[in-house]
Amino acid sequence: MPSEQLFKVLVIGGSQVGKTSFVKRCVGGVFTEFYKVTIGVDFAVKTIEWSNEEIVRLQFWDIQGQEDCLPITRAFFRDADACIMMFDVTSEKSFTFCEALKQAVDTEVPGKDGNPIPCVLLANKCDLAHRTVQPGAIADLANALNFFTWMEISVKENKRVEDSVRQIVEAVMTKR
Ligand code: GDP
Ligand code: MG
Repeated sequence: MPSEQLFKVLVIGGSQVGKTSFVKRCVGGVFTEFYKVTIGVDFAVKTIEWSNEEIVRLQFWDIQGQEDCLPITRAFFRDADACIMMFDVTSEKSFTFCEALKQAVDTEVPGKDGNPIPCVLLANKCDLAHRTVQPGAIADLANALNFFTWMEISVKENKRVEDSVRQIVEAVMTKR
């Protein structure tokens, strides 16, 4: 019998960056243009056969991202194993917000070994031509704030969505 492990994975970022679309894509493989605004937090579980011996279940916490909600929503961060932080490459504001968010994660979730939990920075909507946030700036921020990696993705075109999930699982499994 393979062993099973459950990890709590935060999916956070400003509003309208694509968090709920990302989770639906990961779990259901679909993309829909319109979603209601998430209230509080939504949950979804993705099951991955990581190897013959290991089954990994990712419990996504899709947390509402309004900037002024952070003082309240940060309580949902507790005991997380990993974090997917997302912004929209056409929204400078959503990019800047990642700084405050990352600091909130690092303070709320010191990590079992005292090191911050693994966080991946996802630059979503790279299918759009009118982007305003450039790769150089993303790399700088990812470095400065200790993200273990960053990636450009498009939930809409299903580009590198699976890839980003693999990255986060790998990071969590090595850290265990
Ligand atoms: P959330 O507020 O972060 O949960 O964002 P949603 O998942 O509700 O998405 C907000 C809007 O962005 C919706 O209209 C989505 O269809 C759209 N969206 C999400 N991902 C992408 C993407 O990769 N490309 C484009 N062009 N639109 C996207
Ligand atoms: Mg949402």
